[in-house]
Amino acid sequence: MTTFKNFIGGKWVPSKTGKTFPNRNPADQREIIGEFPASDARDVHQAVAAAKEAFDGWRRTPAPKRGELILKVGDILTRRKEEIAKAMTREMGKVLKETRGDVQEGIDTAVVHGSEGRRLHGFSAPSELPHKVGWTVRAPIGVAGLITPWNFPLAIPTWKSFPALVAGNTIVLKPASDTPHSSHLLVEAFEEAGVPSGVVNLVHGSGSVAGNAIVEHPDVRIISFTGSTAVGRQISATAGKALKRVSLELGGKNAQIVMDDADLELAVDGVLWGAFGTTGQRCTATSRLILHKPIHDEFVRRLIGRAATLKIGSGLDPGTDVGPLINPSRVEAVDDYVEIGKKEGELILGGEPLRDGKLKHGCFYAPTVFDGVAPTARIAREEIFGPVLSILTVKDLDEAVRCLNDTAYGLSSSIYTRDVNNAFTAMQELETGIVYVNAPTIGAECHYPFGGTKDTGNGHREGGTHPVYDVFTEWKTIYVDYSGRLQKAQIDNRKSE
Ligand code: NAD
Repeated sequence: MTTFKNFIGGKWVPSKTGKTFPNRNPADQREIIGEFPASDARDVHQAVAAAKEAFDGWRRTPAPKRGELILKVGDILTRRKEEIAKAMTREMGKVLKETRGDVQEGIDTAVVHGSEGRRLHGFSAPSELPHKVGWTVRAPIGVAGLITPWNFPLAIPTWKSFPALVAGNTIVLKPASDTPHSSHLLVEAFEEAGVPSGVVNLVHGSGSVAGNAIVEHPDVRIISFTGSTAVGRQISATAGKALKRVSLELGGKNAQIVMDDADLELAVDGVLWGAFGTTGQRCTATSRLILHKPIHDEFVRRLIGRAATLKIGSGLDPGTDVGPLINPSRVEAVDDYVEIGKKEGELILGGEPLRDGKLKHGCFYAPTVFDGVAPTARIAREEIFGPVLSILTVKDLDEAVRCLNDTAYGLSSSIYTRDVNNAFTAMQELETGIVYVNAPTIGAECHYPFGGTKDTGNGHREGGTHPVYDVFTEWKTIYVDYSGRLQKAQIDNRKSE
């Protein structure tokens, strides 16, 4: 049994608590991947102190050089892609082709931000006064606390750490306790790439203890958090009191609309991937299907025909389409929603945990579909985060758009249509941060902004370049007056008034 450690000040160290927690394989709970440190505030304080000490050296390192480190990490991830993907499937459960995609997203993110070290653009604009110039630069902020969920165990830590570091901040990363191994492997890549001591720190442990200590620490000036809306609210309240920068990427209740003019087979492909890919455990997962009435019966027939053939099993088996849920308590939570759904709609597929044969020791749940769900139903409004799809039926596009927008969340949406007017109406009217036309609600690319409206966040975006650097930098505006006299803005060039 391997006992893993925290990474603080350039060294692998055990937690001061002396305690560890097991990381289990969700496809077979008997298998323990390793023991990880159950850190507390003392470990966090040590990590923040190391990050604070390293900050001056790192912020003075030219940004292109900081970018080169990230490019090297990307090369190491490329070399170790298969090994990391397999380790990720073991601890997180999603099928191997998806964990390969997760690592690839980290590699792509390294390319974007590694090269951003040579740009990090500010802007210049002409001054209103003669012999005076002004321009802006992006300045680093300090120690960034990065708190990440378990569903994209490598990609999300790279979305946060790479831009934070290229911008010149130092970091303390706390990954979800269901997937600590993937972050361990990422930090190994940083170490191999030669990251200076204290620039990257990794602290394992629970959210309520280690995570909360990061949020409360006065020397952590930025919190970048991805996780549930409930925890995001709590973090925002705590960090808000200390006037910290907080970037929140939270829950979703995403929907796919299918109009009667759509390519139905393509739309079935889309909803199968959107609803049951990653076992429905994506913030962008399709959990509502909004069907135009004329195609309802035909579409449901085709969808159920295909969904019933999905193979459930270990993500390491090449034939598996859908892996397990992350842990036993998620099986219970999904099952509780299915019980609620049975009173709110008609169960037409699945609806139970799977515990037979090879699935006996895992956290498996059958792909589940409810038809006849009203927009007011809880299963149509609350994030379930499992392989559960609710079908709602509408009479026209206006009703479809109203129905899609009628939720507290605003992450991702999709419409399948071959009518250009329908497509452009949807692009304009859907209130989500991401809109797909003739593609499922999942499938973001790392060089576009990623995030949502309403309860999905607090207005920040990850991904892209400008949006995420607005999280990790302060704008500094510089004026140089080379006139040799006192010039007064707003006053000197209005002397005639
Ligand atoms: P979670 O909120 O339970 O945990 C996320 C992280 O926060 C973990 O590292 C956890 O240990 C930590 N944490 C928990 N309580 C904390 C506290 N009080 N203080 C500080 N840290 C704390 O979420 P999860 O179950 O890991 O992930 C699933 C959720 O994440 C879903 O709601 C999903 O929609 C959301 N998510 C959102 C995005 C996005 O980009 N919008 C992406 C992936 C997941």
